[in-house]
Amino acid sequence: MLQKKLINPPPHIYPVDPWRIVEKQFYPPFLSQTETIFSTGNGYLGMRGCFEEGNPVFENGTFINGFYEAWQIVYPEAAYGFSKDGQTMVNVTDTKIIKLYVDDEPFLLPDADLISFERVLDMKAGTLDREILWETPSGKRVAIKSRRLVSFEHRHLAAISYEVTVLNAKAPVTIFSEMRNDPPQQFSADDPRLGRGFQDRVLLPQVHYKKKHRVMLGHVTAASKMSLACGIDHSLETECSHTYESKAEENLGKVVFSIQAQPGKPILLTKYITYHTSPHIDLDELCACAEQTLARASAQGFQDLVAGQQKYLDDFWRRSDVQIEGHPQKKHRAPEIQQVIRFNLFQILQAAARAEDTGIPAKGLTGQAYDGHYFWDSEVYVLPFLTYTSPHLARNQLGFRYRILDQARHRARELHEKGAKFPWRTINGEEASAFYVAGTAQYHIDADIMYALQKYVEATGDEEFLHEKGVEMLVEAARLWYGHGFFSEQAGGKFCIHGVTGPDEYTTVVDDNTYTNLMAQYNLQCAAAQAEALRHKDPERFAALAEKIGLHHQEIKNWQRAAQEMHIPYSEKLGIHPQDDTFLSKQVWDFINTPQDQYPLLLHFHPLEIYRRQVIKQADMVLAMFLLGQKFSREQKQRNFDYYDPLTTGDSSLSVGVQSIMAAEIGYMQKATTYANYAVLMDLRNVEGNVKDGCHIASMGASWMVLINGFGGMRDYDGVLSFHPRLPESLTKLRFPLTFRGQLLEVNMDQEAVTYLLREGTGLTIAHQDKEIKLSPGEPVIVKVQPE
Ligand code: BGC
Repeated sequence: MLQKKLINPPPHIYPVDPWRIVEKQFYPPFLSQTETIFSTGNGYLGMRGCFEEGNPVFENGTFINGFYEAWQIVYPEAAYGFSKDGQTMVNVTDTKIIKLYVDDEPFLLPDADLISFERVLDMKAGTLDREILWETPSGKRVAIKSRRLVSFEHRHLAAISYEVTVLNAKAPVTIFSEMRNDPPQQFSADDPRLGRGFQDRVLLPQVHYKKKHRVMLGHVTAASKMSLACGIDHSLETECSHTYESKAEENLGKVVFSIQAQPGKPILLTKYITYHTSPHIDLDELCACAEQTLARASAQGFQDLVAGQQKYLDDFWRRSDVQIEGHPQKKHRAPEIQQVIRFNLFQILQAAARAEDTGIPAKGLTGQAYDGHYFWDSEVYVLPFLTYTSPHLARNQLGFRYRILDQARHRARELHEKGAKFPWRTINGEEASAFYVAGTAQYHIDADIMYALQKYVEATGDEEFLHEKGVEMLVEAARLWYGHGFFSEQAGGKFCIHGVTGPDEYTTVVDDNTYTNLMAQYNLQCAAAQAEALRHKDPERFAALAEKIGLHHQEIKNWQRAAQEMHIPYSEKLGIHPQDDTFLSKQVWDFINTPQDQYPLLLHFHPLEIYRRQVIKQADMVLAMFLLGQKFSREQKQRNFDYYDPLTTGDSSLSVGVQSIMAAEIGYMQKATTYANYAVLMDLRNVEGNVKDGCHIASMGASWMVLINGFGGMRDYDGVLSFHPRLPESLTKLRFPLTFRGQLLEVNMDQEAVTYLLREGTGLTIAHQDKEIKLSPGEPVIVKVQPE
């Protein structure tokens, strides 16, 4: 029962353009959402798209991935094992500010007489550009051009080039380039999705100094004691005479340029910005590093940074660009969808590219909602795209999970479990969920991570990672399942997993959630198979690992048996898989009498009202049928889908993409297209009205899956790539690259045929509609699409 707004999303406000998001006029009502949409970032550093002037602003934000403040979670009624410390990604020193005065009149967008305004997020170049023509109150015309980038090439670096030209007169011009650390903002306490606000200053000043055009500020977080060194440096190029003055205070750095502008003579200011953070390194050392970054950047110059950004993105798009064409009669939609797909992929890159030792926050670095936490979103929704286009970025994510393995082991001991229990939400590796029923209880995250790991290894053949880190993780997660579950007499000796919450957060703490049991089964099978494979391939390494973690052969046998005997709930009467053991006995939610404005239900109903009914927040059983599709027949898939789809609200943005993929597989193309549109357009059309809080990174990942797995019908069961093209009528072409085992495959589909071309590599065997195809490099193979 999808909400109406999801079925008919509003049009997006940006003119259609294949590579750019363009804002043609300054329009205050869109301020909050454009701050998100025009965000720039590289996965380490992210800046919301706030204006250089610093005002007007909805929610100013600059974020460093993994840089957080800790706080004590206060429970009115605490209990054993509840998470103790919350973590919130900190809004750090704002360095974007460049204020302009002409004739001592400030340039401020709401008051300015704007002759022209254009802002562009260029997804091909990786820059945010703005061009304005302003007429001052005394009739002087001022051209202001700025370009902002957060470098993909240099992890700690951002830069802004800011050019002012007074076109028709002489005038005194003053430019204030600032960095400020303002007190934190507050958020509404009623929406659990938003981040936590702080009452007091989080960043405590430690160091401040200036050197010519350079200013450095050093801060430490009050409770988590993390250090932040932040610096700005400048160069000014102009024929006009000028002076400057720098200032450094505890929470403010400033370089003020006073220029005697001559008509038509450009004044070009370049601002280099750097952030260095650490939980361990002292601030003097961090500041020294930061100064090095600034010195290198200014020696290199802005144009070099732009060129480096271009090179990085050319390479990214070569491996990742998804192209579509539309039906002639419905053509107006295809270009719009094309633009949005690129936007979604670009935002994923901005969230993931340099997230080298951290996870990917649910909102990337575009907003503070969900506190900047990492969830299963990364493994199930973002890693599919990364694994098949930028496998090194997928590896970083799995490497991050390995880094927190010890904490996961510790958490398991705390809960009297075996193995490792990964946190449902976290920044620093500790469980940060304060609502255990929809947090800690989501044990499935262990299996989700292991699923992504197995898929990564199959897609890349990266045995080094598998043997170095992967097997150990698989084993510890398998131990969790084997220790937690039990062979139940009541269930005829079957292996049952009780007291967990599946992906659907509207049904909590249940016995035998089918998704969890199936994913745990897969985890147990993979752990057993990979441990055995290592034992055969590299006995010494296996012996070392076995000794390190006390692994016995009997354990492997136990996992195989548990997997074999896993209880998979099934209703003979309905011929479907119940979502869990008691789901079907619950009363169905009264959808007919639930007005549209009562969605999402979580903001309008007490959890108890929701939990006792058959109503689903997001794909759960339907997701299992996608991830583990080889375990279900087509008929089963259809019956399950028919049952669960009407019960699914889509109150989580993670849902619709998966519903679209399964609808396509079953042949419900109309439904698949409707859901796909929603998933793809989620952010640019502000479908849920909350884009102001940040991008929905998981939904963006799902939009890639909708095209590749849904319409392209790509599956990767047991390490074999297969395709069942199912283009909807509205799509005439779908073209995408995939990186598989180090080879670059290009897939080009239309309604009648598919061309498979191995662009790079030595040879690859794939399947097209169950027929095996051998590909040789540079030799396209064209195959007809048979009606299913
Ligand atoms: C969803 C979770 C998701 C989280 C962060 C919640 O609304 O139910 O599945 O992990 O958002 O995106």
